[in-house]
Amino acid sequence: MDTHSRPRAAVVVTGSELLTGVISDRNGPFLAAALGELGFEVAHLLVVGDRPDDLVAALTFVADAGVALVVTSGGLGPTADDLTAEVVASFAGADMVLDEEMRDHIAGILAGWAARTGFSGPALDEANRKQAMVPRGAVVLMPVGTAPGLVVRRPDGPLVVVLPGPPRELQGMWPSALASAPVAELLAGVPAAASRELRFFGFPESEIAATLREIGASRDLSGVEVTTCLRRSELEVDIRPLPGSEDVAAELHAELAARHAKHLVSADGATTDELLATALLEQGWTVATGESCTGGMLASRLVDRAGSSAYVAGGVVAYSNEAKTALLGVPAEMIAEHGAVSPEVARALADGARARFGADVGVGITGVAGPGGGTEAKPVGYVCFCVTTSSGEVLSRDPVMPGSRADIRERSTDMAMHLLLRASGARARKSVPGH
Ligand code: ATP
Ligand code: MG
Repeated sequence: MDTHSRPRAAVVVTGSELLTGVISDRNGPFLAAALGELGFEVAHLLVVGDRPDDLVAALTFVADAGVALVVTSGGLGPTADDLTAEVVASFAGADMVLDEEMRDHIAGILAGWAARTGFSGPALDEANRKQAMVPRGAVVLMPVGTAPGLVVRRPDGPLVVVLPGPPRELQGMWPSALASAPVAELLAGVPAAASRELRFFGFPESEIAATLREIGASRDLSGVEVTTCLRRSELEVDIRPLPGSEDVAAELHAELAARHAKHLVSADGATTDELLATALLEQGWTVATGESCTGGMLASRLVDRAGSSAYVAGGVVAYSNEAKTALLGVPAEMIAEHGAVSPEVARALADGARARFGADVGVGITGVAGPGGGTEAKPVGYVCFCVTTSSGEVLSRDPVMPGSRADIRERSTDMAMHLLLRASGARARKSVPGH
């Protein structure tokens, strides 16, 4: 391996149901993230149907691309369309043999299943036998369901880890795949992935690109990989040093954080949700929500975290004008005068929620989620936010948000989380680790 590269890996996900849009792939993202964390550069993530030729083509393609490791998901079941083990065996030039120990192990699992469901007989015996057929020489991984995983080496080619499709089984078997001797041996040569993260809010990707160009003009950044990703309205910047360039990565991280401190949420990987929870807990504050267009999404986001009962008092979805008045005390005259979507009503929703729940912080959200109902003065995407605190702070915003109804509601939830974080007095952790 040259000093300026990481070993490459690929993920090949199989399943025709993934190509019809019936279900979306959960294994590819899981495996890609896990491999990246281990220090691999994930070069390809392919999804193929259940046709053996397509799987062979995918394996050949990633092998030709020079990956050291391929992980496959799916096609290990007992049915005729489950062909991954055979295909990988022929890819590795191995024949299939019966693993008697595994057959007996699976028989034990199936016996329990048969006793519970009443299904037994030749079909089950056939399934048992099929799932115990493994490529000669493969390392066989204990199943979480009934399909064992496999680790197979193609001579002069990549190591192939074969895992079942059901995400619960795949994730359950991942640790034993990593612990298997051939994978552990490969991992020993993979440099640690000491990546550094920055999170920004209200900050376009183009700004980071411009700053990187500027810094790159006077410094050699070829030893660091910078990836940016927009998630939950935040720009996540991942800075990963290639072996030998740790110092350059640390400097770049510090410089990006310093140059864009105004928009920085965190420099140590902490999320807005984590920072908010910590801030509320530290101050012993509780929060209450008065939501219109987000229909409870903010309350739901707030209770995503375990232990949130310590700081979430409750929330009201006040969608109709009558509900806003009856449940959160928004004066009917105010709605008549300013409209239900107005900074005034957002503030009244925040104050109303805070009063109603006896909370320390109140949030009000009211907006035009569309696609209909927009006017020139209040177009689709116009959303009014207000956060008020018992200590007298008031934070208001009324942006026009882009996107579909779903986008607008999601972005509104993100925006409210940010305002809450600000109002909770949390000086976002802007420390730069290692500096
Ligand atoms: P089984 O014994 O269940 O057939 P298998 O290894 O053959 O296991 P598949 O047949 O590919 O797995 O998938 C079984 C089911 O697992 C699929 O119908 C789907 O519900 C789920 N599944 C498989 N692959 C994925 C994936 N990549 N993402 C999400 N769900 C998946
Ligand atoms: Mg199957």
